[in-house]
Amino acid sequence: MRVDKTVENVRSCLCLKCPSYSSRCKLKNGQEIPFDVSHLQHLEVMFCAFEKSNCIHENQGCLCAKCMVHKKYALNNEDYCLNTGGVF
Ligand code: SF4
Ligand code: SF4
Repeated sequence: MRVDKTVENVRSCLCLKCPSYSSRCKLKNGQEIPFDVSHLQHLEVMFCAFEKSNCIHENQGCLCAKCMVHKKYALNNEDYCLNTGGVF
């Protein structure tokens, strides 16, 4: 199921708490979440709704399976930051 690009879903995303999201990437992408994300093609969070990350390049563990968005949209994959669409 396609994940809706909403601020509510972004707030539920666990990516910023994930060990794969390095401190360097957090510093680089430490901007506020925009008020409206529905029109964006890329965002450095909630990679299951957007595309893969430009900053995360190594799997250090994935929290997707514990995420509310993952449950809500019955997602099957993980590691969406490394591969657009994730990996089974
Ligand atoms: S997609 Fe998975 S591995 Fe990548 S940052 Fe999010 S929780 Fe971590
Ligand atoms: S399933 Fe993974 S990428 Fe999608 S919102 Fe949850 S933690 Fe973020």
